Amino acid sequence: MANTFFVYVPAGSAANFVIGTRRLMWGWKDAALDRRNNASGGITNREIASSIEPDDLLIFGHRGPDPRGPEVGYRSGVFAEVMVFKARSRLHSSTEVVWADDIYPNRVDLEFVEGGEGWGADLLSADGMLAFRNSANAHGTPFRITHNDALAFETAALSETTGFALDPSETHDAYSLAVRRREQSKLRAEKLAGRGEAPCDLCGQEYPATFLVAAHIKRRADCNPEERAELSNVLLACLFGCDALFEAGLLGIDPTGCVSTVRHAPPSLREAVQVRIGHVVTQTPRVLEFAAEHWASHNP
Ligand SMILES: [Zn+2]
Repeated sequence: MANTFFVYVPAGSAANFVIGTRRLMWGWKDAALDRRNNASGGITNREIASSIEPDDLLIFGHRGPDPRGPEVGYRSGVFAEVMVFKARSRLHSSTEVVWADDIYPNRVDLEFVEGGEGWGADLLSADGMLAFRNSANAHGTPFRITHNDALAFETAALSETTGFALDPSETHDAYSLAVRRREQSKLRAEKLAGRGEAPCDLCGQEYPATFLVAAHIKRRADCNPEERAELSNVLLACLFGCDALFEAGLLGIDPTGCVSTVRHAPPSLREAVQVRIGHVVTQTPRVLEFAAEHWASHNP
């Protein structure tokens, strides 16, 4: 069972939190990690942070109850802002300047899963709330809990019905898949804006809405929360090849806004790629910025 790490973000770190969520990383000072963690039998905060493995959940709580108050009050409090990420790395060291006030050299790379407002023990469990309190009293270092069952917010996501099927092989777990399904439903509705038929952005063919999906231009896993929700980063792509070819990087959008090949297609797919080349997708600068990132991610 994967571990879950709770990370308290104090009010004074609001600006750093904005930067961290945009850059999809978080960091801690040596002085904070080298202290002993009294709530974990005296091992150091660094030992806890070093146990972060890729795909572990990191839950960040911001603007929550006062950690100096009594435990019982803390458990019944709520966090104004909660952000759920997955670790994309183990703890690693970097001195690249990311934050304005300090270096925070002990870092972990993150993938955004979802954000929430007003979450408390009902979604995070009483253990989760106390984990936030322990993190707050340990200089915002990560506090680990191991759950045998899903947390309530994961269960809630799984029970939502959004009526849209997705390929589960694309995501790591059922919870991320549920979040993705909800996001797909919302973005697709926004792009369709009530239309029952619409043209595919990549081939220009008009199709019934059922055969069009919302496709992120910049690779979804690389998007920060804002980019993931931005409509300039979303295409309506048909299920007759465009969505799959774009996702695989066999099609891209070149700097002039036209469909082009990013990398060589196998012979069996060359015709499917050829018929789409040259279609004008966009001239919008913001869309072209995302298209450049999609292109680069398939041309490392
Ligand atoms: Zn198409």
